[in-house]
Amino acid sequence: MRIDLHTHSRVSDGTDAPAELVRRAATAGLDVVALTDHDTFDGLDEAVAAGEQHGVRVIRGVEMSTSREGHSVHLLAYGMDEEDPALTGELIKIRSGRSGRLAPVLAKLAELGVPVTEQQVLAQVGDSPSVGRPHIADALVKAGHVANRTEAFDRFLADGGPAHVSRYTVSLERGIDLVHQARGVAVIAHPWGRGRKRLLPPEVLERLVDEHGLDGVEVDHQDHNPAERKELRRLAGSLGLIMTGSSDYHGVGKVDHDLGCNTTDPEMFSRLQELTAMR
Ligand code: AMP
Ligand code: FE
Ligand code: FE
Ligand code: ZN
Repeated sequence: MRIDLHTHSRVSDGTDAPAELVRRAATAGLDVVALTDHDTFDGLDEAVAAGEQHGVRVIRGVEMSTSREGHSVHLLAYGMDEEDPALTGELIKIRSGRSGRLAPVLAKLAELGVPVTEQQVLAQVGDSPSVGRPHIADALVKAGHVANRTEAFDRFLADGGPAHVSRYTVSLERGIDLVHQARGVAVIAHPWGRGRKRLLPPEVLERLVDEHGLDGVEVDHQDHNPAERKELRRLAGSLGLIMTGSSDYHGVGKVDHDLGCNTTDPEMFSRLQELTAMR
């Protein structure tokens, strides 16, 4: 059984429509795929319907933008109540904070000599209810200022980069609590990717388990090297955490993230399902 628990459609910063993503998942030989767009549930109904058509089991998820010590941490949630007022209220605030940051970012880009207009960015947004940095990156590519999204992040948009502007976020701890209050399962996405091991060292993960009941961590992810995966696997085992694996597919928006390039162990997936059923 092949299980991919973290993907993005054009309802956030991926490039496939949700139904298209699920069709590709079937072609890639996946049995289970979770759609986990950033901070929105908007694509889930379409994905589930497409799953029934293509014989793929679609898991309802979301990747919530949280933060710790001023740095962003992505929290995956599965099987949550999508009507929960506290959770949906926070997601609305996160989405409007992301879109509200557009004007100051564009002002910085203009100062840096790589101007793009709001219209140029909005043309890249697809069906996403918020405007993220990847959409700004796509506008920079389209305008010929950079070759691809990666260059746009490396030169301008990455955390701490010259065109970076921070936005509204909730703390990781509050994010986990909100997911649990909405009866969902909380799994930290790529916890040690992009230098985050300093932000989420073993003792912090242990505290999140003890004090907030963190359910799992993503281990097999393209942003983790083999040594990080090995250490994270051992740590997750000793903390009793569910370990997941995923592609973090973004369509053509991210290279080396093909559907099914990393997968979740069926036994771990069963544990995740048991937890969602219990809540
Ligand atoms: P935002 O939520 O608008 O702040 O944008 C964050 C999104 O940008 C993440 O979910 C990633 O998909 C993407 N991203 C963040 N950092 C990078 C990076 N260094 N290179 C490429 N994509 C990135
Ligand atoms: Fe993304
Ligand atoms: Fe992420
Ligand atoms: Zn993601």
